[in-house]
Amino acid sequence: MTSPWRTTVLTLFPEMFPGPLGVSLAGRALAMGVWSLEARDIRDSATDRHRSVDDTPAGGGPGMVLRADILAAAIDAAAVPPGRPRLLMSPRGRPLTQSRVAELAAGPGTLIVCGRFEGIDQRVIEARALEEVSIGDYVLSGGEIAAMALVDACVRLLPGVMGSAESASEESFSHSLLEYPQYTRPQAFEGRPIPEVLLSGDHAKVAAWRRAEAERLTRTRRPDLWAAHENAPKSTTKE
Ligand code: SAH
Repeated sequence: MTSPWRTTVLTLFPEMFPGPLGVSLAGRALAMGVWSLEARDIRDSATDRHRSVDDTPAGGGPGMVLRADILAAAIDAAAVPPGRPRLLMSPRGRPLTQSRVAELAAGPGTLIVCGRFEGIDQRVIEARALEEVSIGDYVLSGGEIAAMALVDACVRLLPGVMGSAESASEESFSHSLLEYPQYTRPQAFEGRPIPEVLLSGDHAKVAAWRRAEAERLTRTRRPDLWAAHENAPKSTTKE
C-alpha cells in the first residue's frame, strides 16, 4: 500500500480531533490507513510552570496573542518533513478553493496550525513561512473547525475514499461551475415531479440539461465564479 496522506495539527485543543473526521467517509479512510492524523498540543511546548502560551498584544488592545517562541517550538518539535505545506488557519489568509484543496490532496499531506484568541504573533508566521488559509469571510473562535473543513475536503479526494471517482469530477467547482440540482425517488414529492428529461434515459439530453442548469445557477448565484468561468481558456475536458 502507498504511504498515507499525513496531517499534523497543532492546537490548544487536541481533544477536538479527530471529532467529525472520525466518522463516515473520512473516518473509514482514517481507520483504513488511507490518511493519518496527529493532533499535537501547543501547550506541550510551554516552558513556564503555568504552561502559558499567550500574552497581551504589544501596543495594547483586547485579548491575548499566541507567543511566537512557544508556537515555533511546537512547529519544530512536530518535525514535519519539508515537503509538506505548512498552513496557518487565518481569516486573513487566501480563501480556500477546490483547486488548492486538490493540490494539497495530491501532495504528501499538511501541517496545520490552529490559532486561538486574537491570533498569533506575526513573527512566527514569517519565520516558519506559514501559508495563511481562510475558509471564508467570517471569524471563528479558533482554527480547529477551519482545519477540519480543510482536511475533510482533502481527504474525500484521496484515492479510494469516495465511492466513485466520477463524483469528484462532476461536482460543484470542478469546472468552476456550481453543481446542477439532484433528484431521487419518489417520482412525485408533495406534487413536485422530477424533471422529465432526467427520466428520459437519453444521456445526451440529461448531460445538456445538467450543463444548462449548472450554468444558470452559477450565473445567478455566483457572478464571480461565472465571470471566471467565462474568462477561462475553453476547457478540453471530455464530457
Ligand atoms: N483577531 C483575528 C481573529 C482571531 S480568531 C482577526 O481579526 O483576524 C482566532 C483563530 O481562529 C485565528 O487565529 C484562526 O486560526 C481561526 N480562524 C478564525 N476565523 C477563521 C477563518 N475564517 N478561516 C480560518 N481560520 C479562522
